[in-house]
Amino acid sequence: MQVILRVFVWDFAPNTMSSTFRRLHNEWGLDGISFVVSNPSKLLLLPNAEQGRFRYADEGAVCFQPERSWYAGLNIMPVPSELCGKRNPLREATEKAKEVGLRVSAVVTCCYNPIIGKQHPELTVQNALGDRILHLLCPANPIVREFLARMVGDLVTNYPLDAVELEDLGYLNLTKFPSLTTDLHLTPAADFLLSRCFCEHCYRTATERGIEIERVRFFVQTELEQFFIAPTELAQSPLEWDFWEGLVEGEARKTIHMRMDIVSSLLALLVEQIFHKHEKRVHVEGHLLPASLWQIGIDRYKLRELAHAIEVDAKEVPPDRLPPYLLLNRQVFGNQVELWVRLHPSERFVPNRQAFLAQVRACKEQKVDGVVIVGYGSLRRQNWDWIREAVSLLKS
Ligand SMILES: [Zn+2]
Repeated sequence: MQVILRVFVWDFAPNTMSSTFRRLHNEWGLDGISFVVSNPSKLLLLPNAEQGRFRYADEGAVCFQPERSWYAGLNIMPVPSELCGKRNPLREATEKAKEVGLRVSAVVTCCYNPIIGKQHPELTVQNALGDRILHLLCPANPIVREFLARMVGDLVTNYPLDAVELEDLGYLNLTKFPSLTTDLHLTPAADFLLSRCFCEHCYRTATERGIEIERVRFFVQTELEQFFIAPTELAQSPLEWDFWEGLVEGEARKTIHMRMDIVSSLLALLVEQIFHKHEKRVHVEGHLLPASLWQIGIDRYKLRELAHAIEVDAKEVPPDRLPPYLLLNRQVFGNQVELWVRLHPSERFVPNRQAFLAQVRACKEQKVDGVVIVGYGSLRRQNWDWIREAVSLLKS
């Protein structure tokens, strides 16, 4: 059982990070540390960071200096965060963590990227109404695919990483945006309809496969136009495969399969770079309900074949309901791929320490392969005790 801590590089100060990492390894008993590569929001409040509690950041900007040659001939590059200044915080942090014996990984956000999307709307999802969703990159777009493959190449060759954790891979939804304002009640089905991509690349791939994609687009457009007037039956219905695949006389099924093939081939491209060329592990974000993965275009059988580990996030279920979901993931994925669970030692997601430790026990009882504990500088200091207790429970 591996236990790693997920952090921001901004949690640490250059002159104290070595001793902090040593403490995390030797005293807390952690096996590894995982650095979030891109800023998830415009403001980070890190009450226990070693420097700077309020960090105003560009959402989607990265904490490393990209090596230009990796992006040669491509008109996009990761955008370094203003917080980096002239430094390369990811390099300092990964090297120092490695020196004290921690395993090191990087969390790479794939298809959610507001900063690149705003600069290059042509790379983003274009929905059935023709609107661009600027925070979502389309996984069918060849430049997006090349960009992601080169970014992971840059990371695995220039930083002492043991693994890359891929997040937000696939066709994401509009509500992925954390500060969305609307008076619409966006049900999962409405969110799904609003976010489907019909960009020129998705369109072309569909046409090549003989899918009547214009019919599918028109169906979604009509549904959305009605939904903007009054709630519709479809927008209220659950997002279940058996129902949705039958829409538009089976054309929906073909479209959903096409999207899964597009995302699977993108994953294969990233695995080629990370694992086959550079022998680093690939972890991919899964879901507590594997049967819902098709919604974002993930084929669970391909996922099982391609990834070393699947990471599921426990914050999506009440703490006491975690065990059946872990069992379900084991049943679907078997032992072919490792199962990792992301736990959040924060009152935002679990009511108290007991509830958190109950989740930890569930992970141990289900014999998961690894646990990612999320948060360090962003947590209350008293919650650091929860982490230490979790590590000793998992390691006992
Ligand atoms: Zn598209």
